[in-house]
Amino acid sequence: MKTLEDFNFENKKALIRVDFNVPLDGDFNVTDTNRIEAAKPTIIKVLEDGGSAVLMSHLGRPKGEINPDLSLAHICKTVSEVLGVQVKFVSDCTGAEAEAAVEKMAMGEVLLLENLRFHSEETSGDKNFAEELSKLGDIYVNDAFGTAHRAHASTTVVAQFFPGNKCFGYLLAKEIDAIEKVMQTGEKPVLAILGGAKVSSKITIIENILDKVDHLIIGGGMTYTFVKAKGGKVGDSICEDDKMDLALEILKKADDKGVTVHIPVDVIAADDFSNDAQTQITGSDAIPEGWQGLDAGPETLENFKSVILQCKTILWNGPVGVFEMENFAKGTIAVGDAIDEATQNGAFSLVGGGDSVAAVKQFGFENKVSYVSTGGGAMLESLEGKTLPGIAAIIDG
Ligand code: AMP
Repeated sequence: MKTLEDFNFENKKALIRVDFNVPLDGDFNVTDTNRIEAAKPTIIKVLEDGGSAVLMSHLGRPKGEINPDLSLAHICKTVSEVLGVQVKFVSDCTGAEAEAAVEKMAMGEVLLLENLRFHSEETSGDKNFAEELSKLGDIYVNDAFGTAHRAHASTTVVAQFFPGNKCFGYLLAKEIDAIEKVMQTGEKPVLAILGGAKVSSKITIIENILDKVDHLIIGGGMTYTFVKAKGGKVGDSICEDDKMDLALEILKKADDKGVTVHIPVDVIAADDFSNDAQTQITGSDAIPEGWQGLDAGPETLENFKSVILQCKTILWNGPVGVFEMENFAKGTIAVGDAIDEATQNGAFSLVGGGDSVAAVKQFGFENKVSYVSTGGGAMLESLEGKTLPGIAAIIDG
């Protein structure tokens, strides 16, 4: 498998799939430049080698139709500012106009193509469309982890037209490296902290991860399905009764595999799903009727902290409480603080998948963990043990 470092882009045009699916305000200003900044090192490497960069991305979900509100023209100025290079724009991503614009490019230049998803062939993974895209570069670079789990034309299918001339960008390589550290090469003990609302959405991850970890912390809404399955009283807490057998099976499997599972022993119970609700600390298996557990309790947080500080590789997916409400965010913050401390002590910590990143950013943990994944769905699928099509397409040579 080739990396970006194996290529010298001098006099070459790199066709780079980036993830510039950035948020825009009502005046079409980019409100968060993170994704553009994340792709910058790859683009700069191409330019510094003496090559030029053709950037392709999607923005929003135009569903195969031209939608001026979702034109990448809106972000061209911001991309220019972030890169420190005047970026040119072409109003279609394939066809004569795009080919002419690429033809005219001088080395050192950057060209941004219009939104790929203005063509339905992008998401359907159309081979002819992918071949059209392939005419726009000499070397294909995939740096869009956020769409690596999609077998779309620009993320996967296009790669077959670049045999021997394709690689991951730095961002995608970093994501793969971080996942490998947790799933394969990480220093032991390895810990996964799985929170969030429901067992059903995390079940494949839990099953896959049991082979990789020494400790598993279960938190958030998932807690109550496990506690009730073991005979506890969970009051009005979120609970998937039809998943209780599965919860018991997971606990049995974990036991067989020598994985220590840590489930909250106490919780902050509330008399309403509201920030202003009355609260009390109860045992996680003794929640009165009319009350629901919305955050981890103090004894639980002490337990979690001591496990986190013992571990050398830590994956965090999902909040351990309803972090969107200030009064039930303390558990999630305490977990973040403990991961921060473990990371300072030399542990490798990865946060990713679904909405975990939102919680991490909200509480300022972004720079305190080793790595924050840029792809929600792609990270979830990786943790489920799936090979992402966008990654396979590069590895396949
Ligand atoms: P997920 O996308 O599966 O990671 O779930 C994240 C959501 O889980 C967040 O919106 C949290 O508010 C929610 N959550 C966490 N703990 C609880 C809980 N005890 N009860 C209900 N929802 C919860």
